[in-house]
Amino acid sequence: MKNDKVEAPEGLSAKGPDKSPDRAAERGQEAPRKPSARKTKEQAIRGLPIAPGIAIGPVYDTTEIPAEAPRRTIPAGQVEAERQRLVDATALSRKQLNKLKTRLGILPEEAQEELAPLLDAYVLMLGNSRLLRGARKRIEQGLLAAETAVQDEAEAIAAAIMANKDDDRAGLKRRADEVREIARRLTRNLTATPFRSLKEVPEGAILVAEELTPADAALLDPSRIAGVATAEGGADGHTAIMLRALGIPSVLGCVGLTESVTRGDQAVLDGLAGTIVLRPGQAALDKGREALTAFAKERAKLAKLRRLPAVTTDGEPVELQANLEIPAELPLIAQAGAQGIGLLRTEFLFMNREDLPGEEAQTDAYAQILEAMGGDPVTIRVLDWGGEKDMEALGEGIAPTHAGPNPALGLRGLRLLLKRPELLEAQFAAILRVADRGQVRVLLPMVTNPSEVKQAREIYERVAKRLKRKGVHLPDKLPDLGVMIETPGAALAADAIALEADFFAIGTNDLAMYTLAVDRAEAEVSHLYDPLHPAVLRLMQFATEAALRLRMPVSVCGEMAGNPRLVPLLLGLGIRSLSMNASAIPRVKQAVRSLDISDCARFARRVMEQSDPARIHELVMGFGTEKP
Ligand code: PEP
Ligand code: MG
Repeated sequence: MKNDKVEAPEGLSAKGPDKSPDRAAERGQEAPRKPSARKTKEQAIRGLPIAPGIAIGPVYDTTEIPAEAPRRTIPAGQVEAERQRLVDATALSRKQLNKLKTRLGILPEEAQEELAPLLDAYVLMLGNSRLLRGARKRIEQGLLAAETAVQDEAEAIAAAIMANKDDDRAGLKRRADEVREIARRLTRNLTATPFRSLKEVPEGAILVAEELTPADAALLDPSRIAGVATAEGGADGHTAIMLRALGIPSVLGCVGLTESVTRGDQAVLDGLAGTIVLRPGQAALDKGREALTAFAKERAKLAKLRRLPAVTTDGEPVELQANLEIPAELPLIAQAGAQGIGLLRTEFLFMNREDLPGEEAQTDAYAQILEAMGGDPVTIRVLDWGGEKDMEALGEGIAPTHAGPNPALGLRGLRLLLKRPELLEAQFAAILRVADRGQVRVLLPMVTNPSEVKQAREIYERVAKRLKRKGVHLPDKLPDLGVMIETPGAALAADAIALEADFFAIGTNDLAMYTLAVDRAEAEVSHLYDPLHPAVLRLMQFATEAALRLRMPVSVCGEMAGNPRLVPLLLGLGIRSLSMNASAIPRVKQAVRSLDISDCARFARRVMEQSDPARIHELVMGFGTEKP
């Protein structure tokens, strides 16, 4: 990510006469310094390009607490619990501000010098300040819920500030707004319901949030929402994948976004460039409109590729399939001309609900998808819960309530399913019940050990026998059972795992994350997240060769597969099957149709000789332009 052009969040960069947070906090005047009066100046913020497309429209900032946040009182017996809620929300707010501070490193030095003390001051306000002391008192003596107490105290402090006879009215107003600002953050964290108002997002608006979970993203309606921008999030996290799947122009990881925007501001968002321009002037608006027209034209051009085969210039066919996150994507998949679904992520069935989908409900869901795919192959991956995905949504008592200190290394994917075999049995049974309605394959996520595959296969065969006994018709040969190669352990043991598997799907998103020890959904380390790192490529090569030696099918289904610039390398490594978000298929097809396999093989050999990630990037980006 290139962030060198990031502008300082405007609101945070203003200077004020009294810059001593300590003194101000001691006085209980809730210190500096963000003038949170509505901003008017144009401001461009750069983030991570997530989903291409241009959005021009009003911003709907979900981090704003609606004024009508309900007032609540509490029974006397709940005072302690309410105090604890305030303590927790204060800690979370402090953590958020500290995190924002560490990310200021990507801003120009001057802006950093301006902003860091201001953020310190905000953090200080979350210490032993008048706001928190007052709020605690209101909880204890007024029997108010924590958010009501915070809001009342903030209003009282703001009113006291404004009653000051000081002539600097603007300065007083600014200080009063600062108190409200911190109170808003606290309230947001206390109520933890930034998306309660999601349905109220006006049509054509650009949604702005501090952070969006994959489950939140799954609820977005692409026909209503013009674009999405968030302060947090990584390029290959599940939220990003969901947004790409929905085709909503999106930019994540925009430092200072929520501090810089007011609901209703106009904005131009470019999901390919990874920018959002707030309150654009005429020139920025014109540029946005031009980009919008160009994007529509390009789309129309690519749509013409739909019926053309994905074959290299020397006649080698390449299978281009779609990843599916939610059934709403099915029409997009059809439009894109995908040759089936290479990765059906079944997590959507388990999201945003309190209970578990039973065998019957799952059977219906798979049957509908198979029917929509009209006989094209569909690879159904069993539940990959855990890691960055919200464990709570899996239903109480089913998933571990506590994700553990390292959720990505914990009970994720197949590990959870083998611990809770009833989940796996229900899912296998549902898949097997529809197996004769199309070309179905079954895929296991988060495998590190051949024994896990063996165990899963035993359950698979046992479920099949039970269904047969019940008279359910199954195909003579059970659908193939494949393995995601998405951990370094699985990649390096690919030869052993291959003996237990019917096919491999290389999940480059997690493979890069686990190999480089870089959280794929974490904006702060996104500059280190690099699927082209030689360590990742070597693991991919090792796993691919292990599969090819056994003539076993192998595909790539991580986000790498949807990047047209990486196609020469992937084909050169021996990959002939790619599964990606549907909207990427036309561009990837265009790339495939321009390539010669022997050129790709030569190119891959050259890349694999390199050990410097920067050189690999140079080679990959320069493919086709360099002299042989
Ligand atoms: C991957 O890890 O590359 C993958 C395709 O799986 P997911 O993104 O669902 O974790
Ligand atoms: Mg994965």
